[in-house]
Amino acid sequence: MSLTANGLLADLGITDARIHLNPGVDELYRHAIRLGEGVQAATGPLTVRTDKTGRSPKDRFIVEDDLTRDTVWWEGFNHPTTPAVFDGLREKMIRHAQHSELFVQQVFAGTDPEQRIAVRMVTEMAYHSLFVRNMFVRPTPEELQDFQAGWTVLNLPSFKADPAVDGVRSETFILVNFTEKMILVGGTQYAGENKKGIFGVLNFLLPGRGVMPMHCSANVGEGGDVALFFGLSGTGKTTLSADPSRKLIGDDEHGWTDTGIFNFEGGCYAKVINLNPEAEPAIYRTTRTYGTVLENVVLGEDGTPDLNDGSLTENTRSAYPITQIDNIQPGSVAGHPKNVVFLTADAFGVLPPLSRLTPEQTMYQFISGFTAKIPGTEQGVTEPSPTFSACFGAPFMPRHPGEYARLLAQKVQDSGAAVWLVNTGWTGGMYGQGKRMSIAHTRALINAALNGALDDVPFEREPFFNLEIPTTVPGVPDEVLNPRAAWADQQAYDETARKLARMFRDNFRRFEAGVDPAVTACMPDPDQQG
Ligand code: ATP
Ligand code: MN
Repeated sequence: MSLTANGLLADLGITDARIHLNPGVDELYRHAIRLGEGVQAATGPLTVRTDKTGRSPKDRFIVEDDLTRDTVWWEGFNHPTTPAVFDGLREKMIRHAQHSELFVQQVFAGTDPEQRIAVRMVTEMAYHSLFVRNMFVRPTPEELQDFQAGWTVLNLPSFKADPAVDGVRSETFILVNFTEKMILVGGTQYAGENKKGIFGVLNFLLPGRGVMPMHCSANVGEGGDVALFFGLSGTGKTTLSADPSRKLIGDDEHGWTDTGIFNFEGGCYAKVINLNPEAEPAIYRTTRTYGTVLENVVLGEDGTPDLNDGSLTENTRSAYPITQIDNIQPGSVAGHPKNVVFLTADAFGVLPPLSRLTPEQTMYQFISGFTAKIPGTEQGVTEPSPTFSACFGAPFMPRHPGEYARLLAQKVQDSGAAVWLVNTGWTGGMYGQGKRMSIAHTRALINAALNGALDDVPFEREPFFNLEIPTTVPGVPDEVLNPRAAWADQQAYDETARKLARMFRDNFRRFEAGVDPAVTACMPDPDQQG
């Protein structure tokens, strides 16, 4: 317990809790183990199990009030709630927190001092406190001296809502209040809520200042050329940005200002299921490093992580400070991007491994935000399921997708960045027949694009999506480049491509009214011949 923490949460009405202020790694390991949250793996990381093993987007609410009524897009994942619901749950949570033990981390979201927000992360779980310490930007000792929190997150997994009286959907809730500058989280131990909650805050605030907030990873080459990698979960943002030949800026959330790119975070949150040490050495090393948090990774009898064990969840994660990666960009800020890559993991095996987008196609693909998941364990489901998530991150984007799309289009135009669509999903057939693209091929394709090796090669047009595909790429067999040619059965390809084209069209209908006709004209055409 820290005496300096006395009164730290008095403004919330928490006057009598045991508060640990800014505890360090050793201390948090001790507390997490004492509280039974987890154990130390033989390879070093603090290893924990959580009740929820992923985010709960349906249980996330934004308080509707004068600030948000006309600025938030009340569709999709942005569910409205009232100030009264917020106040009621806050009061109950504060009662729950009195006399308890709490961990407080004072951190920044944003590496750019002009754009960042100061956040007070109040957590019940010691491991959340370590997660926050790893994932956010840690203030210097000087910055801590007069730290003034702009935002507060109160995260109490053991507090469960009563949907019958509390005005929420289930025991689990994430309530965001922009006026009070506060996020309440209850009923879930999944640590990702801490980071994605604050991400949503920046995504609301920054467009008002002309700054584009983005669900993307970023890295920078030897010559200073910056690349962004947008994509939904599992498409490869973390994997592909950790390229040993380029400096990592960040793996998930960035802002684009008038001067360039900055990371929102100070750490990375990597999927580690079936991680291959040869293909992803940098991320693999983090699973063998003290200070890392491993979530829902199963340990073998000797205490070593078994990365191939998905028995708790396929969404096993490693959360580590970015400094665990060797080749990083100091300060996690850089200039304007030269290349922007949209990643999609198309389990239909239809989209080309790499194609070049026009400005209109850029907006069309950005608003569509497509990826496709492999069939789950549900009985009778054998086809991939499409996901369309606007801005490649609809659950985190409080404003209308068109607002973000216009900002991005403007930034891309001003910087002259080239935009690429990369399919890290299936090739040679849909899931079940084909196989997942090799990481080596994806990397070779991306490197060719980033290094300018595609500037002078001929491109051909694919008919259904009207995408431009390079006919030859150094280090990649030609037959991989054109998805139709990669399928054994070309008729089956055409049928699947038509089906996917129709899905794209159906999804885009609700955006048509809000975009330029030239963007709508980029819809794929299912009536084309293969
Ligand atoms: P999240 O938003 O959830 O953090 P992400 O976009 O960062 O997701 P990754 O963590 O990089 O996604 O996950 C990509 C997964 O796909 C990894 O497990 C990686 O090993 C695997 N993978 C297989 N083939 C490829 C490929 N060709 N390119 C990229 N990743 C691949
Ligand atoms: Mn990631």
